[in-house]
Amino acid sequence: FEKAKYFEGCLPIEVMVERGRDTLRFGPMKPVGLAHPETGEVPHAVVQLRAENKEGSMYNMVGFQTKLTYPEQKRVFQTIPGMEEADFVRLGSIHRNTFICAPELLDQTLQMKKRPGLFLAGQLSGVEGYVESTAMGLLAGLYAGRLLRKKTLPVPPASTALGALVRHLTETDPGRFQPSNVNFGLFPPLAKKIRKKERGLFRAEQALSGLAAWKIRLAEQGGGSAVQ
Ligand SMILES: Cc1cc2nc3c(=O)[nH]c(=O)nc-3n(C[C@H](O)[C@H](O)[C@H](O)COP(=O)(O)OP(=O)(O)OC[C@H]3O[C@@H](n4cnc5c(N)ncnc54)[C@H](O)[C@@H]3O)c2cc1C
Repeated sequence: FEKAKYFEGCLPIEVMVERGRDTLRFGPMKPVGLAHPETGEVPHAVVQLRAENKEGSMYNMVGFQTKLTYPEQKRVFQTIPGMEEADFVRLGSIHRNTFICAPELLDQTLQMKKRPGLFLAGQLSGVEGYVESTAMGLLAGLYAGRLLRKKTLPVPPASTALGALVRHLTETDPGRFQPSNVNFGLFPPLAKKIRKKERGLFRAEQALSGLAAWKIRLAEQGGGSAVQ
């Protein structure tokens, strides 16, 4: 009843395979840096297994989101060399993200435009990921507290990751809006040409000075900032 639109950062393996025979080898099955310790041989592709319990008897297959049927998952995964005898304790499934069209509905202080005083945060607000969801929670909580105390609600500058996420939520074309992890593409373009190697440091310095300026505004306009 709903057309599946996948988040690019978390595609099911079968969707990746449809994009090309080698797509998985350049994605979750990338063998880079994993030469065999004895022979030095570089594998064609690898599956990363992450321990799920202390005993090391359960592992999860990193990056293997899938909506294949359970029998198909067992059949396909048992064709991977070394996994012929694996028992599957829990099979994969796809999760659905619920989010609003933030550019249409949210203002820069994460309040619903049509219902000021109602703050949204987390995944529902249109960000993706643990840190991003928590970051929006931090802002929404800070703003809600300040609103109650009749203090101003300064928006973090776009040079900071907090500001870049707010910018994504509020300035993206509503017709194209999709949740996003934080990434440099959300930040304003660099004002001057900077060598690739030095861009990270430059952006970090810009972000830190933007954050410091924002914290001063919070303190000036409201007497004390909760953000450390
Ligand atoms: C399988 C999977 C793997 C993921 N892997 C990663 C990863 O590796 N890295 C990463 O950064 N992100 C990952 N994510 C995304 C990340 O989990 C979410 O972006 C993040 O948890 C969203 O945080 P949130 O607090 O907004 O929502 P949630 O973590 O979903 O929290 C919402 C909470 O509200 C509760 N709730 C819902 N309705 C009600 C109600 N009516 N009353 C009371 N409580 C309610 C829910 O039970 C839940 O506890 C993954 C998500 C999934 C599903």
